[in-house]
Amino acid sequence: MAAQQEAGVGGGALEVWIDQDLCTGDGICVQYAPEVFELDIDGLAYVKGAGEELLQDRGATTPVPLPLLTDVVDSARECPGECIHVRRVSDRVEVYGPDAE
Ligand code: SF4
Repeated sequence: MAAQQEAGVGGGALEVWIDQDLCTGDGICVQYAPEVFELDIDGLAYVKGAGEELLQDRGATTPVPLPLLTDVVDSARECPGECIHVRRVSDRVEVYGPDAE
């Protein structure tokens, strides 16, 4: 809940992407937010698009739905590969993840 308020104050929509080069394939993100993340047959996690399809381009982003923000932020915090990046759409500044201030 705090994260949601924080994100709202911080200004607007957020998006998330995964750096597959660092993904360990443990699936923690999928446990937290299966609506947003999925493991592919290559054993790596990818974000999902609006139609539930996997976005397999490197660095592909998907919007973070506000009701799922806490789950996505928890995924980024718990990710053993430190490879889940949540950033503002407006200026692409990372707000949760290994590159966040
Ligand atoms: S939590 Fe991180 S390391 Fe684990 S599967 Fe998801 S993106 Fe990969």
